[in-house]
Amino acid sequence: MRRVRLLVFNAALGPLDYRVPESMAAEPGSVVIAPLGPRQILGIVWEPERLPASEVPDARLRPLLEALPVPPLREPLRRLIEWTADYYVAPIAAVARMALSSGAALRGGGTVTEYRLSGEEPERLTPQRAAALDALQGEQATIRELAELASVSEGVLRGMVNAGLLEPVTVDIDRPYRHADPDHSLPDLNPDQQSAAGRFVEAVQAAVFSPFLLDGVTGSGKTEAYFEGIAAALRGDRQVLVLMPEIALTENFLARFAARFGAAPVVWHSSLKSTERRRAWRAIAFGDAQVVVGARSALFLPFARLGLIVVDEAHEVSFKQDDGVRYNARDVAVMRARFEGCPAILASATPALESLQMAEAGVYEKLDLPDRFGGAHLPNIRTLDLRETPPERGRWLAPPLVELLRDRLDKGEQSLLFLNRRGYAPLTLCRNCGYRFQCPNCSAWLVEHRLSRRLACHHCGHETPPPETCPECGEPDCLVACGPGVERIADEVAEILPDAQVAVVTSDTVNSPGRAAVFVAQVEAGAIDVIVGTQLVTKGYHFPELTLVGVVDADLGLEGGDLRAAERTYQQIAQVAGRAGRGEKPGEVLIQTRHPEAAVISALAAGDRDAFYSAETEARREAGAPPFGRWAAIIVSSEDEAEARDAARAVGGSAPNLPDVLVLGPAPAPLSLLRGRYRYRLLINARRSTQLQDIIREWLEPLRFPPGVRVGIDIDPYSFV
Ligand code: ADP
Ligand code: ZN
Repeated sequence: MRRVRLLVFNAALGPLDYRVPESMAAEPGSVVIAPLGPRQILGIVWEPERLPASEVPDARLRPLLEALPVPPLREPLRRLIEWTADYYVAPIAAVARMALSSGAALRGGGTVTEYRLSGEEPERLTPQRAAALDALQGEQATIRELAELASVSEGVLRGMVNAGLLEPVTVDIDRPYRHADPDHSLPDLNPDQQSAAGRFVEAVQAAVFSPFLLDGVTGSGKTEAYFEGIAAALRGDRQVLVLMPEIALTENFLARFAARFGAAPVVWHSSLKSTERRRAWRAIAFGDAQVVVGARSALFLPFARLGLIVVDEAHEVSFKQDDGVRYNARDVAVMRARFEGCPAILASATPALESLQMAEAGVYEKLDLPDRFGGAHLPNIRTLDLRETPPERGRWLAPPLVELLRDRLDKGEQSLLFLNRRGYAPLTLCRNCGYRFQCPNCSAWLVEHRLSRRLACHHCGHETPPPETCPECGEPDCLVACGPGVERIADEVAEILPDAQVAVVTSDTVNSPGRAAVFVAQVEAGAIDVIVGTQLVTKGYHFPELTLVGVVDADLGLEGGDLRAAERTYQQIAQVAGRAGRGEKPGEVLIQTRHPEAAVISALAAGDRDAFYSAETEARREAGAPPFGRWAAIIVSSEDEAEARDAARAVGGSAPNLPDVLVLGPAPAPLSLLRGRYRYRLLINARRSTQLQDIIREWLEPLRFPPGVRVGIDIDPYSFV
């Protein structure tokens, strides 16, 4: 009799043992359906020695019901799942679930019916149908997805099907993707690019684990260099994963990829339609998808023959997931390459200190592209001291910056203003009584969004229309906006330069690949003069006519004093500065600040990256912060404040007393109320060599909490709120 152990997805259950029926093929990694009481559950066959459970006698084993028609998860992925669960102190089932990220794909291929507009022009239309007709131009999807796209009920769309306005299309789930051709259009690389590319090609051909740090200034052509690694993988019939920090920003990448390889890569992100997701997952698992570009969730996809992983903009903090399994996709990507036995390329113009340290220690091979491609120069960066040259009252752009904007407009060149704040104003208060609009679920202010007429919480999504009167004192027309967001800056530009075409670019306005494409096309066509944007516009874009970058408030990121505030500010400003002067015309950057003497700002203005990194390295060494020491956070939360506090005290009270481990707290988290939950946190600082995860596991294991309490563990935290 064959018996197997299953990893199952029900949090309350441990691993379960089953019998394999004679006719069924089940090996480690197989995805199967098993009976549990009267129900059926999904499981993955796992090596029993790696998944301890209490033995059930043979006679009591129930048979598996079905092995699903997908390839077994391969050993490197199984080891990666185990490693991730272990390192981030997360339930293994929660990690494994990220690999089975399309439930429908597990059920096999076949066909689905999608619908699209038939082109029929009706004589009379209900307003709902008219709106749907408008919204669905060029779309094809299932009824449910179309209903969501058009914001109408499925009933309305079914009516349109019956009236012949929408027509069915039968789609084969497993239809192949267009093949990328490594020789479609060969580039002419400069010598630095050539030597980096040469190393990538060798490493891909050698098919062994080799981590690279591709450190090249903005506009140096890092993408072209790692494309040659991709080409080598394609020639060797191996798959490639390219991780991007934000998938809405990949437009430029997709176009360049298609120009180089003659076909688009397979795209993976959370807003894929379910049928696309199913198709992509299956193509990846069967080895038919050659190159996959995705956000961090693509990291756990079940590649059949992975030959290269690229992490683009590897310094980006959005690679760190801050809820659920709190992993850092950059670090897990390197681990995956290790298990798969393939190279990993971390590409960045502003590498994380951790990555530079790994290069220095000889763990990563560092490849440099010190110059911009094609003779373009790095922009000239200056600071503008707001204490000496303040903006006019009620304004945010100081006169010298306004002059530069006007100059660019006159010359027909483009400008970019960077402010990392969505909406119109970060705080709204009542002029009469001082009432401040706060989120009822979070300890955070509501942010006014004028374009969409709402006050919104950026933490929980709570929204309310701006009221006519103050909710506290009842006074009408008394609300004042405090501080600027990008919308307010855009208004200011429109006032000062009435002829300028201004675009606001944030995750509110450019929130899909389609919208990103429209934005890029508009800028390229010269239809936009001034872009006002958040960190969303700091990277990835290449606009040759953009010659001026203004940083509206360089001090913003330095407030709050979290561990990486200086590094993040450096990275953001260096990146956004890197958007200027990428074509033939030179670029100029003006940084508005009240602290031009701060180490970060002066290093930026002097173009002295090494000065910044060495000062920051020393500060981190002093503080025992990463990469010299380790941090972890324990977040205790509950809807009941007293319950959260008591639980946090219990955690604090049983903290281990170890020589190299410092436990801070518990203290109310800076965001002490988040989505209706009261939060306390403990910070743990330890030496680099400490087995911090084991210590935390042993510490928390014996503790029992009321059912309403959640205890989250964040290893190598990025967020300190
Ligand atoms: P980075 O990603 O390093 O900021 P990019 O890869 O965006 O830089 O390159 C900057 C610009 O130079 C892009 O428009 C790119 O197409 C162009 N470029 C880089 N290398 C080459 C090359 N070898 N041949 C032609 N164009 C190149
Ligand atoms: Zn909120």
